[in-house]
Amino acid sequence: METFDCIIVGTGPAGMGAAFSLIERHPESRILMLDKTPYSTGGMRNDCKMNFTFPIGFPLEYWDEDVADAYLDEVMKFLRPDILPKSNIETYQARATRLGCSLLEIRQTHLGTDGGLALIKDLQERLRQAGVVLALGETMTDIDNRAKTITTDKRILGYRSLLVAPGRQGFHFLQEVMQKLDVPYVDNIVDVGIRLETRIEHYPIVKDYYDPKFYFKEKVRTFCTNSGNAHVVREKYATARGDIWYSVNGHAFAADEKRNNGLVNFALLKTVRLTEPLASGQEFAEHLGMIAALMGGGRPLMQRVGDFRLGRRSKEATFNGDLYDFRPSLQGASPSDISLAMPSKILRYIWSAMKNLDTIVPGILHPSTIMYYPEIKLYANKPQYRDEHFQVAEGVFFAGDGAGTSRGITGAWASGIRASRGMEEYI
Ligand SMILES: Cc1cc2nc3c(=O)[nH]c(=O)nc-3n(C[C@H](O)[C@H](O)[C@H](O)COP(=O)(O)OP(=O)(O)OC[C@H]3O[C@@H](n4cnc5c(N)ncnc54)[C@H](O)[C@@H]3O)c2cc1C
Repeated sequence: METFDCIIVGTGPAGMGAAFSLIERHPESRILMLDKTPYSTGGMRNDCKMNFTFPIGFPLEYWDEDVADAYLDEVMKFLRPDILPKSNIETYQARATRLGCSLLEIRQTHLGTDGGLALIKDLQERLRQAGVVLALGETMTDIDNRAKTITTDKRILGYRSLLVAPGRQGFHFLQEVMQKLDVPYVDNIVDVGIRLETRIEHYPIVKDYYDPKFYFKEKVRTFCTNSGNAHVVREKYATARGDIWYSVNGHAFAADEKRNNGLVNFALLKTVRLTEPLASGQEFAEHLGMIAALMGGGRPLMQRVGDFRLGRRSKEATFNGDLYDFRPSLQGASPSDISLAMPSKILRYIWSAMKNLDTIVPGILHPSTIMYYPEIKLYANKPQYRDEHFQVAEGVFFAGDGAGTSRGITGAWASGIRASRGMEEYI
């Protein structure tokens, strides 16, 4: 059996942050990275828009500004981002403030899905050259922390310290690991919302600020704005019983005038915190996803704002009319009535946020704007951590979106570095 000083499960940004930090500070150590996909660097394959200002991407239960800033400095030094310029921010901020909303000014960069792929190739090559062993296409299936071994679909491996960073889609897997290690956890928070798609002229702020971060009342916020060559996509999820449902998401390719489709998409998300009697946010989200799948014939739903305002469902015809003048970038969605599928309280807050947004940046309520549902973020596993380095059991650490320590690429990278500082104790 081969034994490593550190094994890192997941080559997403959380795993990358840990690997680069460990190999830089301990070049002699033996480090193995595993990923179940044959390519991967996890979520950096999608859009690769990176935010470098607290609190974007940093769950407040684990981070304060000073700690996050210290790790963000390290992330910036490593990734050396070209921060995108912004303009007219004060005008939008003044309009938002008048309505009791806010617009956060943050440092961000955008590589695009294609730019992200080039970065991933470079990062993996640098790790290999530094001596890190990458085992792609290999899945961790089990753990025995007394014997300090993990089982994969190919072999048994020994570790001195282990980082498990499987991302949002590893949510169920992380819960299995926690049960095995007797780590108490709750998952009572979830983000539920819609994704809007419209013409850039109906949301022109994106020419001034690539991914504007608006905060509205009742914990509704804009999230993950994409424009230029921008597309809405669907992500497949399976419940523990194996039922399939879809969440929507969005991404864009790098700026290229020739391939620009003239569209913008972004999410409006409402954070839902479930309290007594404590329910699982994951199960709540799955039920919502299943209702949408039921109504959409197995697909996510879409509705034009024009139909929504009139209280009518959208139909195929709604996507061909003269007023409804652009084709949805996501072809695999069903024209429907999202108010039948979405809890009314969440919908009410989101609609209120849309009206506020239309006052701050007039245009978003154009009848042709498409509302896609559901967009759900399942990153709310909250394990009981033993220390500030996200250690859950002797020598075992978690990091990244699936473990609730981050909500985006830079936060995940920072949480990987933070976990690695605890792993160093075991080298
Ligand atoms: C369409 C889309 C667009 C996005 N756009 C952005 C954006 O522009 N900006 C931003 O900041 N964030 C964006 N995100 C979110 C971002 O991708 C995540 O916040 C980030 O990738 C989380 O990093 P992570 O390392 O925790 O997990 P991930 O990046 O998900 O990586 C986890 C890795 O673990 C591997 N894995 C899982 N289970 C196992 C196992 N049992 N054994 C071995 N390997 C395993 C997976 O294959 C995966 O490669 C986007 C997400 C999506 C889906």
